[in-house]
Amino acid sequence: MTDNNTPQGFDTICLHGGHVTESNRAHLTPIYASSTYEFDSAEQAAAIFRGEEKGYIYGRWGNPTISEAEERIAMLEAYGLQGADGEPLKLKAILHASGMAAISTAFLGNVKAGEKILTHQSLYGGTHEIIEKILPDFGIGAVIVDFHNLSSVMTALDADKTIKLMHIETPANPTLQCVDIQALSALAKQHGVVVCVDNTFATPYLQQPFVYDVDYVVHSTTKFLNGHGTAIGGIVVGKDIDRMNTAMTKTHRLLGGNSNAFDAFLLVNGLRTLSVRMDRHCANAEKVAKFLHDHPAVAQVNYLGLADHPDHALSQKQMKHPGAMLSFELKGGIEAGARFMNKLKICLNAVSLGTCDTLISHPASTTHKGVDREQRLKFGITDGLIRMSVGIETVEDIINDLEQAMS
Ligand SMILES: *Cc1c(COP(=O)(O)O)cnc(C)c1O
Repeated sequence: MTDNNTPQGFDTICLHGGHVTESNRAHLTPIYASSTYEFDSAEQAAAIFRGEEKGYIYGRWGNPTISEAEERIAMLEAYGLQGADGEPLKLKAILHASGMAAISTAFLGNVKAGEKILTHQSLYGGTHEIIEKILPDFGIGAVIVDFHNLSSVMTALDADKTIKLMHIETPANPTLQCVDIQALSALAKQHGVVVCVDNTFATPYLQQPFVYDVDYVVHSTTKFLNGHGTAIGGIVVGKDIDRMNTAMTKTHRLLGGNSNAFDAFLLVNGLRTLSVRMDRHCANAEKVAKFLHDHPAVAQVNYLGLADHPDHALSQKQMKHPGAMLSFELKGGIEAGARFMNKLKICLNAVSLGTCDTLISHPASTTHKGVDREQRLKFGITDGLIRMSVGIETVEDIINDLEQAMS
């Protein structure tokens, strides 16, 4: 199969999107472990450098295995959508070494010294930290408001003309808070502000932020997109193709956060099963959430599919399914949390998420141990809170494991 542009279903894109038959007709695009590429002639080299002829030049700039991952994810984010011209939406993606590298490119490619990023509290820890600890040294500030409160978002945008980029993460870690992409994007557009959405938790299978006219989607591909926990990676997907080919490509190439052929190969293969994995992840998560909700040792379950989650209705509006992430609080606090974690046999105690197998973590005793308790409670990270990335195991095995660990 060569690169064809005929309309395809989402599942077919997962399998074939972006695949180009290489000269040996390998079924799968190989791992192109080559740092540089030969030119036929001095003239050809010059033409490729001028961009008049297609061709790879140097590994930090591009690689065929990486191109396949980029094109496939761009096609998935654009699936079924139309651009402003009524034609099928075209997107361009740039793969990075990690989600944080992708987020760095998204920020530094769009915001200059003296300008600001508008964002909210419930962000991935690394994103929060880069905004707090790295960007201020480069003269880039941040305005943090509650994105649930649209009038305070409006006030912030009206008050500060140096805001250039709005960064949204939804659903967010670990309370699964959601914010309204459509309403936030509309407010940003009224103020000429660029919008970037971290779509890691949902994946394009469950949520397509480009429906709401956003400018960029970023992912940690480490999570559901790879799906097997085999490689760290990140991607920036953009709809302004000219800008992606110029400013964003320049930022990516010169900051040097490029991915590599092996990680891209693992990602491409993980993507082949994205939709079937997500179906099972989601079906299992629904059953696990219901079990936890009815269990006497559990004080609270945060799952978007439960009617008592504050963002249940919003998630139904902008997501195809509430997803596979949930968190819950044990009644016994921090000790009950630790005891529970130690008794698990099938569910694995590890950070990260989106792998085929179920991963569980206890933020209060691990990732957020260093965070001041008051502050952590403010973010909803209570002493007994357990975060769970529900896997694709036989669901009864997951539930039985939770049951025995709580007894
Ligand atoms: C993991 C994660 C990141 C960071 O990605 P890395 O691949 O670890 O660099 C960013 N955003 C979200 C929502 C994440 O879950």
